[in-house]
Parts: sequence; C-alpha cells; structure tokens
Amino acid sequence: MNKEYINYINKVFQSEESFGIKVLKSLNKVNSIYKSKELVLYFYDKKNNKLKPGYYCGDTSFVDSDKNPKDLHFDINEVSVFDDYLYLPLKNNKENIGIITLLLNKDNNDFNLDFAKEYINLINSKLQDVNLDEATFRKKEVLMSLRDVKKEFVNGELITKVLKGVNLDVYKNELLVVLGASGSGKSTLLNLVGGMDFVTSGSYKFQDIDLSTFKEKDLTLFRREKIGFIFQNYNLMPNLNAIQNVRFISELKKDSKDPKEMLDLVGLEGKYNNFPSQLSGGQCQRVAIARALVKKPDLILADEPTAALDYKTSIEVLQVIEGVVKESATVLIVTHNEEIAKMANRVIKLRDGRINEIIVNPTPAKAIDLVW
Ligand code: ADP
Ligand code: MG
Repeated sequence: MNKEYINYINKVFQSEESFGIKVLKSLNKVNSIYKSKELVLYFYDKKNNKLKPGYYCGDTSFVDSDKNPKDLHFDINEVSVFDDYLYLPLKNNKENIGIITLLLNKDNNDFNLDFAKEYINLINSKLQDVNLDEATFRKKEVLMSLRDVKKEFVNGELITKVLKGVNLDVYKNELLVVLGASGSGKSTLLNLVGGMDFVTSGSYKFQDIDLSTFKEKDLTLFRREKIGFIFQNYNLMPNLNAIQNVRFISELKKDSKDPKEMLDLVGLEGKYNNFPSQLSGGQCQRVAIARALVKKPDLILADEPTAALDYKTSIEVLQVIEGVVKESATVLIVTHNEEIAKMANRVIKLRDGRINEIIVNPTPAKAIDLVW
C-alpha cells in the first residue's frame, strides 16, 4: 500500500492511521471484486465547500485535489454515468459527504444501477465496521463496552437469569436509549453499567478500566468518579434544599463544577433555597440532573427519568437532557416509552435479557417534537 495514500486519507479523515488503513483495505477489496480500472473517492470539504479526492487507485499516479482531476458538474444526489465514468454519491442520511467515481473498465463493461447500489452497500457496510460517526465522518470513540455480559440473581434455591449475554458499545457524546418491556432487564443493565452491581460473567470495560475484576470498594469509587445518575423518583435529600442537594455531590469530587451554575443550566435560577417539598416534580428532576452534571461524569445514566412526570413536564426535562448531550455529555436513558427513543442517536432494544435490535437514528428528533 502506498504510504502517500495512507497519509493523505488520514489527513482527510483527521483520524488515526489504523482507521485510514482499514478503509483503504476495504475499498481495495471492494474495488478488486468489481475489477474497475480506476477509483477515486471524493470527500466533501466543508470548510472550502468543495469535493476533494481522498482516495485514488488506478493506472496513473495519485491525483491531488488542487489539480482538479475531473470537472464535477453533476447532481451528486444521483448515480450517473458520464463518458466512461460512473459516479456514486457517498452520503450519510443528512447530507452528501462525498462521491465515488469509477472509470469504466472496457473489458468488464457492466456498470449499471444495480451494480452501483451493491457497491454503495458494500462500502457503507465496511464503513460501519470502523464505527464511523455519520455526521462528522470521524471514528467514534468507545467509552465503554460490554461483552457477553450475563447477570443472574440467586435467592436460595431460585436462580433468576436476567441478562443472557449482552454485547454493547457506548460511544462518547451519544444519546443512547434502551427500550424494552417491563421486566426485560433494563434496570439491571443500567445498574451494571453504573457500577451498582457486579456482572455474573462476561466483561465490562469502561475507558481503560476492567470492572469485571472489581471489588465492592472499587465500584464505589468508580461510581463517584465516572457516573452521574438520574432516577425516576429523583432521589433527592428531603432535608437539603436545591443547592445543598447539588453541593453535597460536588463535594465528593475534586474538580467539580459550580453547583449554582448547574442549577442555572437546568433552568432553576431563583430556586436555590427551595426544599424538594417546595418544588414540582419537573423541578425536582432538574435538580437531579444538575446533581448528575456537577461532578462532570463521563457517563450519565437515567432510569425512566420522566415516568413520574406529566407529558408537558417530561418534554421540558427531555429538553434539558438534549441540551446536556449537545454540551458533549454521554447519556444513556432507560425507558419503556418508545416515543423518547426518537431523540436518541441509537436505540437499543432489549428483550428477555438480550439485545434484540440496535437502531441508528441519523437524524434524531427534537424533544419538543415528541408526542405521547
Ligand atoms: P426492567 O427495568 O426492564 O423492568 P429489571 O431489570 O428491573 O427490568 O428486572 C428484570 C427481571 O429481573 C425481572 O423479572 C425482575 O423480577 C428480576 N430481578 C431484578 N432484580 C432482581 C433481584 N435482585 N433478585 C431477583 N430478581 C431480580
Ligand atoms: Mg426498570
């Protein structure tokens, strides 16, 4: 593999080398399947508003973007054949991010729309293999991963198998919604991820930490340092006012944020001194969100955060969570409310202790547009 190509594509993707190599290898493979003579993969350079070749393979030497290899006057929303070239749009679900051009191989003259579709499918599936963020086209960073995680509860003679082999990666800065019927194991899963319980078998890695080997004491520290919790019933201290509830948590960690700032962020300026009994359900949940945020956790876990709230208040609380994700937090919400799943980047469907389906939402809905 030509080192120049690799450097170039890495520059285009602004990502680590292994990623560039992976993409190149898969493109080469796909290309060899179809024996095309030449392949250029263009990427949309947002800053300069032009297409740049990110990958080239063919008879002639590597083509630099500035030398303008082909005049690209065509609608990139459509697959098109022009002279000897076939143009394939490379897009995510939001926008076109590039285009692939293939030079027709005279000996193997079978470019058509079916071929184009298959080609796109192949390339897309290869790109998914490397966990590309569809919006930025950068590699997603894995925050935590579960592998074949099982959880069973033993009560005397009775063994209840709740999680039966869960595999899951959570990426940084995503909003993940875990959906499932009551009893499917959602809370059990959340408790494991949050370090509130141990896995029975399988592995759980969070950043570089392997929790599978943890003792109780390690879990306490892990929870304190890494996780922010939001519960259905708020779990506020009734004898502490709003600011004291948040401060109580901020004092557990050295580099915490300012409790007042967090209460302002969730829209509770002016309510600092109210006790939980003097706040509405929605306001209590906002305090709980401020409390989860104040210690700058790496992951925020929310178990049915709106289950105790009316519709309008639920939407308001979800809007706060939406804002938090925008500010680069990673949030995992567990719920049985399918409507909430529409605002997620990814939806994990849990069924009888297993992940049944993972749905990627390229264009998550806004909280304000949810209806139930
Ligand atoms: P969900 O949150 O999806 O409603 P849970 O994770 O709370 O489901 O529970 C899943 C199953 O595990 C239920 O059948 C529940 O009774 C069982 N379960 C949960 N915790 C325990 C426990 N500590 N001991 C025994 N069974 C439990
Ligand atoms: Mg539950």
